[in-house]
Amino acid sequence: MVDVGLEQAFAKVRAFLEGDFEHPGLTLYDLQNLVGYNSRLKTDGPLSYTMPPEPALSGVAAVRLYYYPKDPEVNLIVEIEDKTRKRHLRHFKWNGVSWTAARGLKADLTATREVLPSIEEVGGDFFLGYASEEAKELAEAIRRGEAAGAKYMLCTRDNTRIFYAPTSSPPAVPCPRCGNTNMIFKTLTLATPEDRIEAILREQRALRTALEDLLLYLKRKLGP
Ligand SMILES: [Zn+2]
Repeated sequence: MVDVGLEQAFAKVRAFLEGDFEHPGLTLYDLQNLVGYNSRLKTDGPLSYTMPPEPALSGVAAVRLYYYPKDPEVNLIVEIEDKTRKRHLRHFKWNGVSWTAARGLKADLTATREVLPSIEEVGGDFFLGYASEEAKELAEAIRRGEAAGAKYMLCTRDNTRIFYAPTSSPPAVPCPRCGNTNMIFKTLTLATPEDRIEAILREQRALRTALEDLLLYLKRKLGP
């Protein structure tokens, strides 16, 4: 089944990166400006930019560019989120003149059926590669303490948990809450039910981190 909106978005992104009759292609410098890299403290990234809505992108939920300043292999990841909230990723390296495929990773700018599983959020945890109903069931089981053995990644920054389906190999996705790529792989050993209070505390911690990030961002944007 062809997703016309997705094909259109890929064509738009290809024109954006490579240039077309009306516009020059995106340079590394352009990308740095878009993500605000040149006007803020240098970090290890990733830094992101969401392309503004326009007719050519109306068939998808969002198009985001992630810039990785320090990564020797991948400088840019294009993420196109389709209407079913699936994310299509393409990886690029800047060769000084143009964007080339990052070694061993997908970089062609055409729509394919190969997608990352969607991420569901239930009760402060994230579920990758689970259908919506399965994610809810698993979240319930975790709360009841009946999900020992479930595999998850733990964000080292805000303790966000991302449970992933056992059929998929451990995914390489950044924390959906803060973008951190430092993840610890863990297996749930919980024998006692997770206290409701614990769950609330976890959600609060995640919220607080999100707020702190937002404040930092605003401070940077608006000055002291
Ligand atoms: Zn995080």
